Amino acid sequence: MNILTFGPNGSGKGTQGAIIKEKYGIDHIESGAIFREHIKGGTDLGKKAKEYIDRGDLVPDEITIPMVLETLDKSKEKGWLLDGFPRSLAQAEALDKALKEADMKLDCVVEIVLDREIAKERIMGRRLCANDNNHPNHIAFEAIKPVEKDGKLVCRVCGGELSTRADDQDEDAINKRHNIYYDDNTGTMAAVNYFKNLDGIPVISVDGSLPIKEVSESIIKDLP
Ligand SMILES: [Zn+2]
Repeated sequence: MNILTFGPNGSGKGTQGAIIKEKYGIDHIESGAIFREHIKGGTDLGKKAKEYIDRGDLVPDEITIPMVLETLDKSKEKGWLLDGFPRSLAQAEALDKALKEADMKLDCVVEIVLDREIAKERIMGRRLCANDNNHPNHIAFEAIKPVEKDGKLVCRVCGGELSTRADDQDEDAINKRHNIYYDDNTGTMAAVNYFKNLDGIPVISVDGSLPIKEVSESIIKDLP
């Protein structure tokens, strides 16, 4: 089975991908891993891509698309779940065309739907316990919410002090990624709509605000 997955940062897309991969024994291919693999392997495409990345430029689709196809082709026997690509309408059109030319069938598209504000809250809501890394605290999830002590939020397990990770609090970076994702003109939402308007490829849209287990159950129930 070959699957495309969509979902904004903070939607739990990576977690769901891992669950689907496990269930169906297919390869979970993340777009970042495709670049790393080609660059590490020193392939021609990898060398070209590296030039752009080193300059801080976006790698053009003429390089990205063949790279993605080559990687998918290696998982032809097992099937694949592609995560993080396409990110734009142009990439969606190019990927669709390239898959057809390569005689590779896309069986299903999975979209995790999540409100932008909630997605942001999920990224920014994680709290780290000063006493133990294995004490999960998150202000957006009822089950692991920190508790209040003397007017301050503390670790719900041990009462320890809480802090945040700098990456999780980089609002500019989060907004930048979400601007691309939620753009339904030329961005990722436009790519999702492109596949929704195609004939013959089922698109499963699930409510990403539900607990992880409910999201994966509703995806698995609808997969062909
Ligand atoms: Zn703790």
